[in-house]
Amino acid sequence: MKTAALFDIDNTLTPPRQPITESMVKILDRLCVPFHVAAGSHLPLLMQQFFEPLYQFGYRKQFDAFLSNGAIHYRCDFSVDMSIEVISSFNIRDHLGESNYRFLIETLKKTQILPEFQLPSPLKVIGGTIVFRDSMVNFAPIGRVQQEDAEVQLNRKNFVEYDHSTGYRQRIMDHLNNKLSPLIKNNDLKITLGGQTSFDIGILGKDKTNAVTTLFNLGFERIVFFGDALFEGGNDAAIREFAEAWPSTSPQSIETVQVDSYKETIEKLYEFNFLKEPI
Ligand SMILES: [Mg+2]
Repeated sequence: MKTAALFDIDNTLTPPRQPITESMVKILDRLCVPFHVAAGSHLPLLMQQFFEPLYQFGYRKQFDAFLSNGAIHYRCDFSVDMSIEVISSFNIRDHLGESNYRFLIETLKKTQILPEFQLPSPLKVIGGTIVFRDSMVNFAPIGRVQQEDAEVQLNRKNFVEYDHSTGYRQRIMDHLNNKLSPLIKNNDLKITLGGQTSFDIGILGKDKTNAVTTLFNLGFERIVFFGDALFEGGNDAAIREFAEAWPSTSPQSIETVQVDSYKETIEKLYEFNFLKEPI
């Protein structure tokens, strides 16, 4: 059976928002099945976190990458140089049309200045809060920067605790689902929790399930997906829902594996017998 491993990137192959480690690159090199990646982030953000260190630490094979929440398909060939070529893409702005897109952005801007969503001290907004990522829009109430320093990391950590104890993001999610209901109904808009601090706003089907359907079309029969956010509202949940609805009679199969860190991903790869012995 032609099997592929499919990985989320952030907190599945890397520490949260940190570059992939050399030891993890060596693990990927030892896989005895082909691997592909499906990530929420877009290419510019993932260059430093994943692609460049992967190449620099000596990875020299080919794989496919489904970025911007899975909707944009790249073929990566690292056998000589670091070649990353777009195979197919999708643009949420074109899909929604200009006036709907503007309504979406205005709604996000109005939401973040509402008194009930102001972040208490010492939390602060660092960097931009709304980022267009071709196939989707990422909305991060605490902001986002390309490279996190100690202050940003502490702010992130404090936010994650605050969010867990108060349900902050869930309240914003409920508010957005209400305000954006025309786009949800008429344009297949879908809002999910992105990573630990943000929201991914994309289009139904133009998500990580695009990676699974494309890999099936490329001839893979069994796909094992590893991700840290398969839970309800998480940015890997679309794949879990897809797997749950997949007919058991199909000759193709999709399995999902929840991990809580890249270290747990390594343990799971051993359990699946996906790793060759180290040389
Ligand atoms: Mg993740």
